[in-house]
Amino acid sequence: MSASEITEASIHPASCLSVKPRIYVVMGAPGVGKGTQARRLSETFGLPQISTGDILRAMAKEDTALGMELRLILSTGELVSDEVLARVIEERTSKPDCANGYILDGFPRTLYQAQLLENIAKDQGKEIQVLKLIVPRSSLLKRLTGRRSCPTCGEIYNIYLKPPKREGLCDLDGTPLVHRSDDRPETVSIRVANYEKLTKPLTDYYLESGRLVKIQAEKPVEEVFQELCAILTQAS
Ligand code: AMP
Repeated sequence: MSASEITEASIHPASCLSVKPRIYVVMGAPGVGKGTQARRLSETFGLPQISTGDILRAMAKEDTALGMELRLILSTGELVSDEVLARVIEERTSKPDCANGYILDGFPRTLYQAQLLENIAKDQGKEIQVLKLIVPRSSLLKRLTGRRSCPTCGEIYNIYLKPPKREGLCDLDGTPLVHRSDDRPETVSIRVANYEKLTKPLTDYYLESGRLVKIQAEKPVEEVFQELCAILTQAS
């Protein structure tokens, strides 16, 4: 099957396309659509999507000291410590479902985390391929403040760009959609500024080692997805 033939109909575990076991890092500023694309790639290629944001949000709900600490950090839009991230990522990527490769969404975000990933990749005998989604800064605010997600199935909507059929309800399971506390305008600007400051060295690092591909993502979700699929299948 060619990338242009990849449609919703092909998103079924039995017909998953196979690609070389790699660690695919989907990078991009908050609101660029990396969660949506990582999710579709995960379904199409049968690789687990590991979203550190989702994992940390789940941990923040726990009634523990760490849970309380995470609730505070996440509500401000600041980054969680590299120590916590190291624990999360080492644990998650050592699970059996990661044996054939996996898709990282939201990790690494710092050079320290990139170094940690190099070690993990080496231990697992996997190459790293970085896919960087880019949209103009002016679009990010609209994308972020309009975002709503389904707490049951994880489907992501946008009240301006991709509204649900029934207002406030998930198309797939009818669950009331939620607005993440860190998608509020005051937090969004901190997250975007943090992202730019911290990930510039990371982008340079992967560019220099020839493992980063830039994808212009200011176009329909489907077009971006097809481009990503072409990259994954070509790289195999
Ligand atoms: P995201 O859903 O990727 O936008 O992440 C939401 C929040 O989780 C971020 O604003 C950070 O507070 C935290 N977070 C997620 N991934 C990381 C990471 N790799 N390093 C540090 N903090 C992270």
